Amino acid sequence: MSVNHEYIILVSSRDNRELTPTNATITRIDFDKSERIKNALKTFGFLITMAFISIFVPILHFVLVPAFFLGSFIFAMDKFGEKTRNKGGQGECPKCHQHFKVQPSKWVPRITNNCDHCHEDLEMLLPVSDELIANS
Ligand SMILES: [Zn+2]
Repeated sequence: MSVNHEYIILVSSRDNRELTPTNATITRIDFDKSERIKNALKTFGFLITMAFISIFVPILHFVLVPAFFLGSFIFAMDKFGEKTRNKGGQGECPKCHQHFKVQPSKWVPRITNNCDHCHEDLEMLLPVSDELIANS
């Protein structure tokens, strides 16, 4: 069963460093082993299906079939290794102070987003370890 955690993180502008950082609320989803297997099998099944469909595409099937076939193993292993994920959220833009949607992504130390309203290039730092979360 997956577990959701909510975090309040700082949002800063990548273009205008002098702007005061604002806050965003994002949700981290933690997958257990059975869900990671399920996610990996979904990815594997989709790409294997695409490999079989590609058999019927003239000429391109020489490239598409091996690419989808190899990709199904590589991306399924990548999906199996994904223990946490940024489910997205909402934040306040430091420039126009409107709310923007934080896009879902991998749980990496630094994510970037654009403001939905003024298209400002925004940067958010995610807490990557529980020690960092405890100290913040
Ligand atoms: Zn904005």
